[in-house]
Amino acid sequence: MLLITCPVTNTDELVAERRIRSVVNHPTHIALHVECPCGGVHVYRTGRRWESARRPAAARPAPELTPA
Ligand SMILES: [Zn+2]
Repeated sequence: MLLITCPVTNTDELVAERRIRSVVNHPTHIALHVECPCGGVHVYRTGRRWESARRPAAARPAPELTPA
């Protein structure tokens, strides 16, 4: 499970890992494209390695990143 903050409803949402649409590995961070309960797809980034990212963690919105 992954805890995200929806930028649309501004609420914390707990989403299943299968809702992660794609993971993009960047040199400085990992970008997660997550299907949100609000119906949209939001991009979050984490500085952790993928192994750590699989654990429940709070991810903050990364509005400066645009979906690929
Ligand atoms: Zn949302």
